[in-house]
Parts: sequence; C-alpha cells; structure tokens
Amino acid sequence: MTDADVRDEEFMRRALALAEVARERGDVPVGAVLACDGQIEAVGFNQKEANHDPTAHAEIVALRQAAARRGGWRLCGATLYVTKEPCLMCAAACVAARIERLVYACDDPKGGGAGSVYNLADDPRLNHRIRITRGVCREEAAALLTSFFAERRKEE
Ligand SMILES: [Zn+2]
Repeated sequence: MTDADVRDEEFMRRALALAEVARERGDVPVGAVLACDGQIEAVGFNQKEANHDPTAHAEIVALRQAAARRGGWRLCGATLYVTKEPCLMCAAACVAARIERLVYACDDPKGGGAGSVYNLADDPRLNHRIRITRGVCREEAAALLTSFFAERRKEE
C-alpha cells in the first residue's frame, strides 16, 4: 500500500467510528470525514431520525460544517470520505461544493449516486467532475449496515 492508501484507510476508519455514533442514536450507520491536505476539516454522521431531517445525511452534515468553517461554499481541494456510496442528493451536493475527490467504502446498489445506479459525481455532462475511489474498508462498512438492519428487523 502507498502512503496515500494508508491515509485513505485512516480517514475511512474515522468515518466508520462516526457511523457508530449514528447507530447509537438510532440512525442508519453512515459516517463522513472531509479532509484537505491531510487535515480533517469537518465530520458528519447520519442524523435523519435524530433531527427529523430528510437531508441530514452524513455527507451533507460534513459539507455544511466545512463550508461554515471556510466561510465559503467552494470546497476546492477537499476529499470526502464516506462509509457508503453517496445517494443522489449527496452526490449532487458534492458536485455543487466542487469537491475534488470522493472516497467511499461500500456500494449502494439500491440508490447509489456515484456509480451504482447513477453517477452524478463523475458525469461529463456536468460542469464539475469528482475523482472517485471505491472500496476502502468496504467489508467493515457493509457489516455495520447489515448488522444494523438485522437488529432493526428483530425489534419489529
Ligand atoms: Zn445522501
């Protein structure tokens, strides 16, 4: 593994820890870390249920926090790490924010917006395209989601 791969995995592990926080609060476990030049700028975890907010996905939370900290909406040079492939809303938000690179763990074949169903993150018709790396910590992220949904079915 190169140094860059090691760094990707390190940031993804932080995102996985954030996904755990989402789970503890009753939300689908998805976590996100936004980094630039090797530094974490913002973090987020899914809080749709906790905040009664359909847009409070991990990615959106992290993008908002980073933009607020920068004092501007352009997140040039940033890499967003997220434990699950972004949905259509989040992929569009990444393009709107001019994120440079997206790294995600497991695919979302039911609603992915970065390659599985659609690919808004890297579509030549749009005015900004994002470099995508897939599969970093894929097994861990998928296992977290699988166990969450299995537990939830048991409770029903
Ligand atoms: Zn989303």
